[in-house]
Amino acid sequence: MAEPTYTQPAQEEAPRAFGWCHWHQGHSEGIRLIDVIEQGSGSGGTVFACGPCITVNGLIPFADR
Ligand SMILES: [Zn+2]
Repeated sequence: MAEPTYTQPAQEEAPRAFGWCHWHQGHSEGIRLIDVIEQGSGSGGTVFACGPCITVNGLIPFADR
């Protein structure tokens, strides 16, 4: 029985992720998850930043910690 060989990118980050950058308050491509805000009550949240803002503000992506 031949098993299908999948060539799926494992844990590969999407470099073209599009979303809201919390630093310059605008949508941008290539955003990265910077921090996860956990709150006991109410809605926590996730904070994203785009490449330029990461560089300018010296941010460290959540996944790189
Ligand atoms: Zn930005």
